[in-house]
Amino acid sequence: MKIGFVGLGNMGAPMALNLLKAGHDLAVFDLSTQAVQQLVDAGAKKADSPKAAAGGAAVVITMLPAAAHVRSVLTGDDGVLSGVGPGAVIVDSSTIDPASVKEFAALAQQHGCVLVDAPVSGGTGGAAAGTLTFMVGGSESAYNQVKPVLSAMGKNIVHCGDTGTGQVAKICNNLVLGITMAGVAESMALGEALGIDPKILGGIMNTSTGRCWSSDTYNPFPGLIETAPSSRGYTGGFGTDLMLKDLGLATEAAKSARQPAFMGALAQQLYQAMSSRGDGKLDFSAVIRLYRQK
Ligand code: NAD
Repeated sequence: MKIGFVGLGNMGAPMALNLLKAGHDLAVFDLSTQAVQQLVDAGAKKADSPKAAAGGAAVVITMLPAAAHVRSVLTGDDGVLSGVGPGAVIVDSSTIDPASVKEFAALAQQHGCVLVDAPVSGGTGGAAAGTLTFMVGGSESAYNQVKPVLSAMGKNIVHCGDTGTGQVAKICNNLVLGITMAGVAESMALGEALGIDPKILGGIMNTSTGRCWSSDTYNPFPGLIETAPSSRGYTGGFGTDLMLKDLGLATEAAKSARQPAFMGALAQQLYQAMSSRGDGKLDFSAVIRLYRQK
């Protein structure tokens, strides 16, 4: 299938590589020429704009940091909406607020195409392995149209409901993730300070009731899990500033629903503190550095 792909960062690049491996015909665009070159070397075609990436594509995928980037990629002068053909489906896999998704879906409709939200979970490891979970918001028919394409990049492709509900699922998931990571960091640092070997503590936690993804797959304590960003200087994972953005989305959504978000608001402040001291680009598990000065 002819697919346009815009946004080749930590997540987008491995996702696009999996589409190539599945035999799709890919046109790619990113502001980073280095990111584009990596995909061109793997067999993708270079597009000079989001508009060019969308031209003639049956599906256009966007994987961008935040709603402002999605807006400019869709609606800019050389944007996706000016190049996309009728009947095409735009899949936005970025994590953004549900209200923006609804607005973008309405704009897409005016251009004779459909936009679904399909944010992902599974991290950069899941993106590389093609085992992501996709949370799709949109009509049943649009879901059925994009499912075979998303299956090349993920193993759980879930239809969450109408437009925007994919983002609701994603925001709620990341609310838990931001909180559990801070909790595991606090606990691991306390154990170290009290004199237990962190490897033993991590092992106990992972066979006990404290076990969670933040402890058993992505433990923030360096050296416990070889594949986790904590074992490579907190690089190449899920940036602190992106987690901060997601907790902002969660607390804003909570405000609009008049729901309390006690833990989420506190976790947001922890990642904010990291960002303000210049650690915004590090993986979010570096939150443990607020507890141990190493
Ligand atoms: P990233 O910052 O690594 O990559 C974003 C890419 O978008 C960069 O290559 C950047 O050059 C490109 N970009 C920005 N503006 C652009 C524009 N106007 N036109 C073209 N390209 C543009 O981010 P990421 O980690 O890949 O995350 C992308 C999205 O996925 C975010 O919304 C994030 O919250 C979400 N997400 C990330 C992870 C993760 O583990 N990293 C996991 C799940 C979801």
